[in-house]
Amino acid sequence: MTAADPSALAADVLAGSRTALSRAITLVESTRADHRAASRVLLTALAQHTGGAIRVGISGVPGVGKSTFVEALGTQLTAAGHRVGVLAVDPSSVRTGGSVLGDKTRMPILAADLQAYIRPSPTAGTLGGVARATAQTITVLEGGGYDVVLVETVGVGQSETTVAGMVDSFLLLGLARSGDQLQGIKKGVLEIADVVAINKADGDRVVEAKGAARDLASALRLVRGGHGGWTPPVLTCSGLTGDGVPEIWQAVLRHRSSMGPEGLADKRSGQRWELTWALVRDELDQRLRRSPAVVAAAELLRDQVLANTMPAPGAADAILRAFDGG
Ligand code: GDP
Repeated sequence: MTAADPSALAADVLAGSRTALSRAITLVESTRADHRAASRVLLTALAQHTGGAIRVGISGVPGVGKSTFVEALGTQLTAAGHRVGVLAVDPSSVRTGGSVLGDKTRMPILAADLQAYIRPSPTAGTLGGVARATAQTITVLEGGGYDVVLVETVGVGQSETTVAGMVDSFLLLGLARSGDQLQGIKKGVLEIADVVAINKADGDRVVEAKGAARDLASALRLVRGGHGGWTPPVLTCSGLTGDGVPEIWQAVLRHRSSMGPEGLADKRSGQRWELTWALVRDELDQRLRRSPAVVAAAELLRDQVLANTMPAPGAADAILRAFDGG
């Protein structure tokens, strides 16, 4: 991978080259210093051509049917003339070695669709790092002319909140199960969902899915309603048969237009500013770890803190003094 000519790469992305698109995404995902500099040039060259996509986050526990759903939705969207990018934010894929979100083999039809581009989660460590790379990848896809970007994430830790911070609308997939009405929906996630879909509503599961959707809709009206804002609709669908998937997309579009052009622009500018600071914090963290003065000070102080002969706040002050002076 060469960082040689990011301006030429940007031109190729804008011209619609898939190879250039892949290379550009690899560039923005990279943490290498020369790649970082090149990726800044690339993003600047693309900047005025970005922002045009409908950005949607899709989450749910493993097994809820995310891949199947994205395959169905993505295929319906490309058939309707959209160009669809599929990204994944999955910080756990490195550790577990388990199923990787956005894995092309899990979306065989979409993976073969020339109007779609699927990119698995970057494997670079922390949730923050993965998320930052993904936020930049969204803009690269927009530069490449993709007008819908679906960002898939698994319900692990803070990943849903992180993805909600980079998309226009956030879709939560859940399941119905007899006995307890709802499975695999964490309370905190309901607070960030814009649309909720009870998935696998097919065969003999339709009735219980509809029941669960009704119950959840009333619960949501209590939690989220009454503020004059958007109350997330709860729908049912089957990624397997495709039933209800167009209605989910319509609900996502309704949520998006409920913000109005100004509301959407505000949301996105807020997200860009958040991203700016997240990148600053990442860089400071890196510099802190790399600073020889900090490493030396930390080595001296560590034993004292462990032995409790130096209080943590004092040690922190000393490390920061070493950083400022070093
Ligand atoms: P993910 O882990 O959330 O991406 O879930 P997958 O899409 O891999 O689906 C997990 C399992 O559920 C697979 O065996 C699918 O065939 C099955 N599945 C996915 N969607 C549906 C659906 O809409 N209806 C039914 N009955 N099964 C489904």
